[in-house]
Amino acid sequence: MAKFLLAIIFSVSLVLYPTSASAPATGGDTLGLLKIAKPPINEAVVDLPVTPEPEPSPNPELDLIMPLAGPSIHTNYFGPNDVFHWQDINSRQYHTYGVENGKFIYQPGDTWFIYGLFGPIEAVKYDWNVKYPLWNGRHNGIDFAVASGTPVLAASGGEVTFVGERVGHSIVVQIDNFQITYGHLDSFLVKVGERVTQGQIIGYSGSSGTINPHLHFEIDKYENEQRWGINPAKYLLPELKSAIIPDVSTNRYINGPLLWENPAGDFRW
Ligand SMILES: [Zn+2]
Repeated sequence: MAKFLLAIIFSVSLVLYPTSASAPATGGDTLGLLKIAKPPINEAVVDLPVTPEPEPSPNPELDLIMPLAGPSIHTNYFGPNDVFHWQDINSRQYHTYGVENGKFIYQPGDTWFIYGLFGPIEAVKYDWNVKYPLWNGRHNGIDFAVASGTPVLAASGGEVTFVGERVGHSIVVQIDNFQITYGHLDSFLVKVGERVTQGQIIGYSGSSGTINPHLHFEIDKYENEQRWGINPAKYLLPELKSAIIPDVSTNRYINGPLLWENPAGDFRW
C-alpha cells in the first residue's frame, strides 16, 4: 500500500510540477500541463485486477470450544495398508502413520488431526480438486479429520440460522455478527430458529459433499456490509497445540511450505 501511495503522490507531483525538460512552457495552460504529464496508458496494464492487501480483522471476540466430542481420526477412506505422513505442529517432526482396520494408529501425544488449514492453500492449483470448497483461492475454515458419526458440538451458543446444503450438509449458528458453519455433516439435530447452548450436540459428522469424512469448521464475521473469513485456529490454540497436520496439498500454503501459522490472517471478501 505504501508503494502504491507513493506512486500516486509521484504521479500527482508530475502533474503539478512537471520538470522543465519534460514540460515546455505553456503559459500556465492547465490543459497543456496535464497533457504533458500524463503517462502513456497501456490498457492491458490498467485493466489488471487489483489484489487487495490483507487487512487485520476488526478485532473479533469469540469464546469457543472444540466443535467435536470424540477422537479426531480417519476411517473408511484409507485402505487397510496405507501409510501417511503427518507433521507435528509444534516440533515440525514428521510421523509416519499406518492404518489398521481403517483407522490411524495413534502415537503418543497425538490430539487433533487437521486435514485442511485456513488460508491460501495449494489445493486450488489442481484441476482435479476444483470441487474442493475454496473461496477466492482460499480455504475458509479448518477441516478436522474425524470419523463419520462423531457428535458435533456447538462451539458457541447462538441461533441456528441455516440447516441444509452449503458445505455438504451444513448447520450455521449465528452469535452476534458471527456465523459459524459446521459442514459435511451426516445428520442434523437442530432446526432453523432454534437457540443452542455452547457444547450442545447439534449433529453428527460425516462426508456429505466430500470424499473423506471430516468436519469443515468455518467462522465468518459480518461487519459494515463486509464479510470476513476468520481463522478458527486463533480461538482454539490451546486445544490445537499438539495437533497433527498431514502432508497433503490441502495443508500446503501457496508459495509456502507446510505450516501451521496462518500467513494470510483473516481475510475480507
Ligand atoms: Zn473445509
